[in-house]
Amino acid sequence: MRAAVFHEPGRIEVTDVPVPALEPGDVLMRVRAASICGTDLRIMKHGHFKIPAGTPRVLGHEVAGEIAEVGDGVSDYRVGDRVSITPNVGCGHCEMCVQGLNQLCPTYDAFGITLDGGFEEYMRVPSWAIARGNLVPLPDAVPFDKAALMEPAACCLHGQRKIDVGPGDDVLIIGAGPIGCLHTLIAKRRGARRVIVANRRQSRLDIAATMGADVLVNVTDTALHEEIMRLTEGRGVDVVITCVSNPDVIASATDLLARLGRLNVFSGLGDAARPAIDVNALHYRELVMTGTTGASNKDYRDVLDLLGRDDVDLSPIISQRFSVEDIQAAFDHAASGAGMKPLISFEGA
Ligand SMILES: [Zn+2]
Ligand SMILES: [Zn+2]
Repeated sequence: MRAAVFHEPGRIEVTDVPVPALEPGDVLMRVRAASICGTDLRIMKHGHFKIPAGTPRVLGHEVAGEIAEVGDGVSDYRVGDRVSITPNVGCGHCEMCVQGLNQLCPTYDAFGITLDGGFEEYMRVPSWAIARGNLVPLPDAVPFDKAALMEPAACCLHGQRKIDVGPGDDVLIIGAGPIGCLHTLIAKRRGARRVIVANRRQSRLDIAATMGADVLVNVTDTALHEEIMRLTEGRGVDVVITCVSNPDVIASATDLLARLGRLNVFSGLGDAARPAIDVNALHYRELVMTGTTGASNKDYRDVLDLLGRDDVDLSPIISQRFSVEDIQAAFDHAASGAGMKPLISFEGA
């Protein structure tokens, strides 16, 4: 079978490898769609502390497909079942895992990091990952392309749950890439009063509009702070979600919030970045500042329920499809920021 194998930063090679052999209880997924995420880009650039130098690894953790084979003893899944995976496999017994927070498990495994992921024709899902809830049956109404996007969407839902986005909220989303657009859609579904999206690229803002954004702010020609104060008559917004890796954007977010406002730092920063946070703003206006990372298995199932319905169109978030042979071009497309998300498609496989 064909697989895109990451060898070291900057080097990914598409080669023939054996179809993974199953142990008892395992499942083999024929991958149909796998999208490229910021995490894949970061691994491609800098490697990952959980991928020791010299370890060949198939990346890709936003994956959907159908079961091609089941190992001995599997009775809950059948060949032909449509499934996707949640990437972070918790240990199952630490203080995070027992709360259902598998994404915070300190000794997690993850597809596309410690386990081979979805940029290959067939992917093995080990029995212990299935036992911990990481193999998810897909409703018939959810096509594979859309199912691949449920992983980043679950992370967005997790972030919005942390700051309880809901009716009555004016929500500002900074960044209109795939993540900002998924946040827009989810905030509207959760009943936000008004979703304001800020970005430099108009083409991305236009896609945010199709996801339900009420107000678009192009920050190349509009000062964000003044515009937010104008839109809210000097009050500020209830919620800010930062979806860009920029310390200045995070530092200035407190100025945009109303009293009792809530901030979610959704995008991480490079190791060196330490934004100067206005602690007096937190104190005197009783702001709440949070961050979130990843999503739990529960968030994933809930977002599938929220966005899996026929009427939610996520296709504008996928800007281009590539075959696995063209994975380098797909990574280049993702890194350029020119489009939205590239998808590795195995339709013809
Ligand atoms: Zn992802
Ligand atoms: Zn754990």
